[in-house]
Amino acid sequence: MDDFINTLSKILKVSEPWKIEKIQVHHATKTVNVFIDYEKGTLFPCSKCKKPSKVHDSNYRTWRHLDICDYRCYLNIKTPRTICPKDGVKVIEKLPFGRMNTHYSFQYEQLIMGRIKNVAVSTLSREIGEPDNNLWRVFHHYIQEALMSIDCSETIRIGIDEKSSKKGHKYVTIFTDLDTGNVIFVCEGKDESTLAMFYEKLFDMIGDPNNIKLICMDMSKSFISGQKEYFSWAEVVFDKFHIKKALNKAVDKVRRHEVVYNETLKKTKYLWLKNPCNLTAKQEQLLSPFLIESSTNTAKAYICKLEFDQLWNVQHNAVEPLLNEWIKRSGSLNLNPINKFINTIKNHYQGVLKAMKSFFTNALSEGLNSVFQLAKYRARGFRNIDNFINMIYFIGNDFKFDFH
Ligand SMILES: [Zn+2]
Repeated sequence: MDDFINTLSKILKVSEPWKIEKIQVHHATKTVNVFIDYEKGTLFPCSKCKKPSKVHDSNYRTWRHLDICDYRCYLNIKTPRTICPKDGVKVIEKLPFGRMNTHYSFQYEQLIMGRIKNVAVSTLSREIGEPDNNLWRVFHHYIQEALMSIDCSETIRIGIDEKSSKKGHKYVTIFTDLDTGNVIFVCEGKDESTLAMFYEKLFDMIGDPNNIKLICMDMSKSFISGQKEYFSWAEVVFDKFHIKKALNKAVDKVRRHEVVYNETLKKTKYLWLKNPCNLTAKQEQLLSPFLIESSTNTAKAYICKLEFDQLWNVQHNAVEPLLNEWIKRSGSLNLNPINKFINTIKNHYQGVLKAMKSFFTNALSEGLNSVFQLAKYRARGFRNIDNFINMIYFIGNDFKFDFH
């Protein structure tokens, strides 16, 4: 037994003044309880004045530790309270095995954080048989610590995107550094105030609002007015994904008006919205008669969408004349939803032009969508928005955690 205790002490890194007192194994419940005590006469620092102090009394605290084979392992640590002539009785500040007031040892917390990278918190909770609330608490603690390390001193180009979770009940706005691709700020809401919050937060992250040279965002009124109010010096580039989405919506509106008197357009919604190169052979076959005749308004709107898509691929100096031509040509179709889209483009002309010439416009949405989808999945069933926000930070950064 002594040999086993010695070996286990090494594995568990139990060193002076700590020693393993006894081990209890319960085969029926498949648990191992390791009791750890300190050498009699040890002085511990008073948590207030840090002076070595005598032990007043002690109590066992239990942390779950890494399993031993498939036996659950618990560390039961005799935790002293010190008595100091100046400050009286105090609980000691820290133990080498785990954080005070938690359920898990440092190594177990490390396992939890590592697993959350790969599975949803709810799944992990079932897998290891721990309440998800406890797991969220661990997660929250380490993310809060990691957030202190976000450094925006070199942030000059940012992307802003609003996302809805829980079927549109809650909105979050996500700020990314377009050069590093990292998520630097996430907050609840989607209005102008989110930019005010980001403005303030930048100072905490060693950043400077005056350094922000470019903002890539959607064409929402609230973001535009927020930009004018707080980052008026920054160049605005509208996001490609949102611009294209608006045109897709317009094409679908044309189809929905037309389907009322043209039954052949029924159940064709996705043919018109999909990127042509992603169409299956069967879908291509369904679409081609419409395009050959191009007598329907939907087909006309669709062709105008394909032409618009081409504008992202032309040489920079050709973008503006081609966009103007496109506006003229598409306007002459006299389709209400398309005209509305044209007006949107005219009202946001400079930012759209810049988007067509910019490299950043792709990076924002594509990178962020995958971060967001993954965060939604990992945090599914989350009970409060902070957990979800922290999950976005976690997925959107490559944090290094300190488990000591
Ligand atoms: Zn003291």
